[in-house]
Amino acid sequence: MGKALIIGAGGVASVAIHKCCQNSEAFDAICIASRTKSKCDALKAKLDGGKTKITTAQVDADNVNELVALIEKEKPDVVLNLALPYQDLSIMDACLATKTNYVDTANYEPPDTAHFEYKWQWAYRDRFKDAGITALLGSGFDPGVTGVFSAYALKHQFDEINYIDILDCNGGDHGYPFATNFNPEINIREVSAKGSYWENGKWVYTEPMEIKRVYDFDQVGPKDMYLLHHEEIESLALNIPGIKRIRFFMTFGQSYLTHLKCLENVGMTSIEPIDFEGKKIIPLQFLKAVLPDPASLGPRTVGKTNIGCIFQGKKDGKDKTYYLYNVCDHQECYKEVGSQAISYTTGVPAMIGAMLVMNGIWKGPGVFNIEEFDPDPFMDALNKWGLPWQENFAPKLVD
Ligand code: NDP
Repeated sequence: MGKALIIGAGGVASVAIHKCCQNSEAFDAICIASRTKSKCDALKAKLDGGKTKITTAQVDADNVNELVALIEKEKPDVVLNLALPYQDLSIMDACLATKTNYVDTANYEPPDTAHFEYKWQWAYRDRFKDAGITALLGSGFDPGVTGVFSAYALKHQFDEINYIDILDCNGGDHGYPFATNFNPEINIREVSAKGSYWENGKWVYTEPMEIKRVYDFDQVGPKDMYLLHHEEIESLALNIPGIKRIRFFMTFGQSYLTHLKCLENVGMTSIEPIDFEGKKIIPLQFLKAVLPDPASLGPRTVGKTNIGCIFQGKKDGKDKTYYLYNVCDHQECYKEVGSQAISYTTGVPAMIGAMLVMNGIWKGPGVFNIEEFDPDPFMDALNKWGLPWQENFAPKLVD
């Protein structure tokens, strides 16, 4: 039993909060704190009355002193950071100052450069170790479950894994010509960046959307996928011995890509501030303001996600290929927690990571990526808390 301080009250946080309340045996109390307190209060109003005691607070997570004061007041066993990647370091600083465990779902990204890397958070390793506390980085789906799947495959299915292809397939349809499934600013920064993958000990770079594959997915059907840079590649390259190549592919429909290209061409995806009517504005932040809020997609999104990893390697001296994946239905998620499957597939692992750190099943001290811990308790919890996994033949490469 313990208490979590959850920072952020957006799409992912909403699911994680619903799941903490379902899991009141582990979470006897939560505090929901975010920039806009009314969003925290709305979640409390919806979920109050169960066994998990809920409090709310306003906090600017860029401000370490405010965070420290909040942590000292609430005394949580773990801080679950579900704000934006820009806040990772300030929240880690506040956890260090108060000796509180830390969990997040996305690695730090400086606001003025569209570039994410673990180096900033890995630089906290010694300080977390010396403070005797644990930081768990990347406890969403990807990164998150994909790292747990990799650790599980290595522990139970292979003697050596040589190739990992992470396939993030969203077969959902929200009916809009263009919308993003999670925070539009973060999403567009990610997909308009150059692609990259890890091969033979070094990064290979591609132009954005240069490499395309078509895979035929169980329960979804054939889908266009594009190679992207993704954060778990960086940690898996270090933590999976014998690895030769790791790639990440994500589905994008033609309408999404056409709109994105047009928005890029007119400068709307830029993060360089411009002068507008006497004020500085960032085009991408303005674009975010006019796009549908990802939280509003829940009722209108139909279809399924199929996200998993194709592993290739050796078992008992023989070549082996193995696919480990989860299928999640957008409408089922909406019925259960009022959110679409992208928020659901991130919020459930966020709750599980916070639970395992909070109850000491996963403990450091230090700063850890998810594949560094024993995958078995996480895999059991996925089956229990709404993201059951399946093993099968790899999806067929159609094109
Ligand atoms: P949203 O934009 O829906 O929610 C972000 C929340 O953080 C909002 O409530 C926002 O407040 C709050 N926030 C932002 N800045 C601050 C601040 N300075 N102080 C306090 N609160 C702040 O994002 P999502 O829920 O879609 O995404 C949350 C996180 O999950 C992101 O880091 C994203 O990258 C990550 N993610 C990870 C995935 C994975 O699989 N690993 C997949 C999808 C997302 P306000 O309401 O005022 O704007």
